[in-house]
Amino acid sequence: MKLVTYQENGLDHVGLLTQNDREIIPVAEAERCLLGTTVIPDTMLDIIKEEAQVLPVLQVLQQKFAGSSCETVSVDRVKLLAPIPRPNKNIFCVGLNYHDHIKESGKVFDKSKLPKVPVIFSKVPTTVTGPDSYVKRFHDLVSQLDYEVELAVIIGKQGMGIKAEVAYEHVFGYTILNDVSARNLQSQHVQWLMGKSCDTFAPMGPCIVHKSAISRPEELDIQCKINGEIRQNSNTRQMIFDIPTIIETISSVITLEPGDIIATGTPAGVGMGFNPPKYLKSGDVMELEISEIGVLRNTIE
Ligand code: MG
Repeated sequence: MKLVTYQENGLDHVGLLTQNDREIIPVAEAERCLLGTTVIPDTMLDIIKEEAQVLPVLQVLQQKFAGSSCETVSVDRVKLLAPIPRPNKNIFCVGLNYHDHIKESGKVFDKSKLPKVPVIFSKVPTTVTGPDSYVKRFHDLVSQLDYEVELAVIIGKQGMGIKAEVAYEHVFGYTILNDVSARNLQSQHVQWLMGKSCDTFAPMGPCIVHKSAISRPEELDIQCKINGEIRQNSNTRQMIFDIPTIIETISSVITLEPGDIIATGTPAGVGMGFNPPKYLKSGDVMELEISEIGVLRNTIE
């Protein structure tokens, strides 16, 4: 099941992707038309919060819709937003979580010196932007603009002190996140927050895939193209710390809540890893793809 948030006639709606991701089942309208009820909340965050009650209704809706006369909405006719347009708190991120990315980041590549625990940082909620939107260039301040394709985990069930063995019970689903980074601000300010948290620096989407549709999240192909050129091409099995370990680590001291987002790190091939570096410039088109989720496309302003 692929859930989207989209805007039509100035209003935000939640929908289900269908027909090769080109059509949307408008959830609220379909529920009224097919079930005669209005129990499904109208925001993604509320759907995630009420997953246990809402998911069975969504499944019935999806089945009934197939044989009905209800109409879908074409993806081309509406504006897809980030599936969670405004998260409730900062996005959690894992830095340096793929072996090959550590190497290109100039860190010592000695197995005994790999991070012993996940490197956790965050991006503020105003970084979030949707598919096909512009990422701001900040010409006067950002000289080294970079991309990072990442698998993002959406938390479903609240938890504190979650053990790795049960971590997946707390997951709602998955999406793609571009951890856009201003390398010069990251190094100028020492801490990463400024360089990672500029407005629009977290394109997200195009959908959230419910976890029931992805049996092996740690075996997904992950790729990033810039203007059609493949820059990053890896698989989530290359992660140093897997998803359960990341959830266990963050929740050891922070309560994870429904709708929280965790970006799990990026593989090799970011702009700063090339010699000379290949930083982003105005007009560049970034296409991020993760198998079983889709493609997230954004352009530099
Ligand atoms: Mg990153």
